[in-house]
Amino acid sequence: MKAIITDFEYLPAKTVEEALDLLSQHKDDEYKIIAGGQSLNTAMKHRLITPQYIIDIKGLSDLDYIRFDEKDGLKIGALTTHRSLEKSPVVREKYSVLSEMEENVASVETRNWGTVVGDLCNADPAVDPGPPLIALDAKIKIASKGDERMVDAEEFAVDFFETKVQAGEMATEIQIPALPPNSGVYFTKYSQLHGDYALASAAVLVTLDSEKEKCVNARIGLGGVGNTPIRAKKAEEILKGKKITDDVLAEAARVASEESSPISGIEASAEYKKELAGTLVKRVGKEALARAQKA
Ligand SMILES: Cc1cc2nc3c(=O)[nH]c(=O)nc-3n(C[C@H](O)[C@H](O)[C@H](O)COP(=O)(O)OP(=O)(O)OC[C@H]3O[C@@H](n4cnc5c(N)ncnc54)[C@H](O)[C@@H]3O)c2cc1C
Repeated sequence: MKAIITDFEYLPAKTVEEALDLLSQHKDDEYKIIAGGQSLNTAMKHRLITPQYIIDIKGLSDLDYIRFDEKDGLKIGALTTHRSLEKSPVVREKYSVLSEMEENVASVETRNWGTVVGDLCNADPAVDPGPPLIALDAKIKIASKGDERMVDAEEFAVDFFETKVQAGEMATEIQIPALPPNSGVYFTKYSQLHGDYALASAAVLVTLDSEKEKCVNARIGLGGVGNTPIRAKKAEEILKGKKITDDVLAEAARVASEESSPISGIEASAEYKKELAGTLVKRVGKEALARAQKA
């Protein structure tokens, strides 16, 4: 009988140094990193990928952390699971948008195994953490033997299932700055079934001035409506410097919809997803504004 998964050599790493060493010894098309295996195993079972080597980083407990301080903000190690992020008290207190986002990622079983960084590295355009990380101005740390670099969340994915992570590199940490005062952030996704990938999703951050009248900064991330999660920069400009009324928000939503470039699929047409992106920005922006006013 033919095996479901083709043969490979299994290379478990116990330390970050060991993992980077193993990565440096193999060519990009020869190996795959495995963390929780939630996406990788499926791709291997379907023979979409047939790596010769599997470099297992699940044992790197040094990268399993969530740290917060008021100055540097939040740091999420690459081995942090979705479930740990969802349940973290400090995340719920300081970045509730991330706890709320996590409650709707896949199932509890997948969240227990799957890592947040693994989800980003898998680079599905509808990846749930993508838009909120863009709205929160997050950066992702990528390490190789003897080197490290930071990449903005909106630039981390470069195409369908492709990221900035190159041969010999691995993503090691997500960094999120502390939220400025008078800020509110919200995210929602629209999917056909609870826990499914989004047809479209949106995250909006609104920062108000000290009188809580005008918007001094806005960031908008969209998911499922491009080859990667995208930042709707033109829509952000509509909000900045203005009092956010329903009309202003409607205009920002219209522009965000125009900035999206979804493709049609069996579940929905491109036109539908484009319309949906605008609708979500309007709804999410309203809640982000309400949160900023209460902050
Ligand atoms: C049934 C199901 C439903 C799902 N629904 C959703 C959903 O609604 N929303 C959502 O956002 N996600 C969803 N997912 C995706 C899920 O969240 C991811 O599969 C999971 O988080 C990936 O993490 P992992 O640790 O299992 O990564 P793995 O499967 O081990 O790896 C995934 C990919 O990332 C690479 N990789 C992993 N870690 C690193 C690293 N540190 N550096 C560089 N490359 C790395 C691997 O080589 C591989 O290519 C779903 C998955 C399943 C199976």
